[in-house]
Amino acid sequence: MRFWFKRCPRCRQGDLQGESDSYGSYIACMQCGYILSTGQEALLLGIRQAEEEPAPARQQAAA
Ligand SMILES: [Zn+2]
Repeated sequence: MRFWFKRCPRCRQGDLQGESDSYGSYIACMQCGYILSTGQEALLLGIRQAEEEPAPARQQAAA
C-alpha cells in the first residue's frame, strides 16, 4: 500500500492512498473520498501517457 501526503487534486489537503479491491487498483483521498482518474494516477506516479508523446524517440539523435 502506498501513500502520497497532501497530493489530492480536489481538496488539495488530503492524503492519497493507493488501494486495490476486486475492481482493480485505484488511488483515493482519505479526507474527501475523491478517487483519481487514470490520467491523474499516471501524473502522480510519474508515468507519461503514450498519447502525450507523439514525437518519435530518435528525433534528438539527428544532428
Ligand atoms: Zn481530497
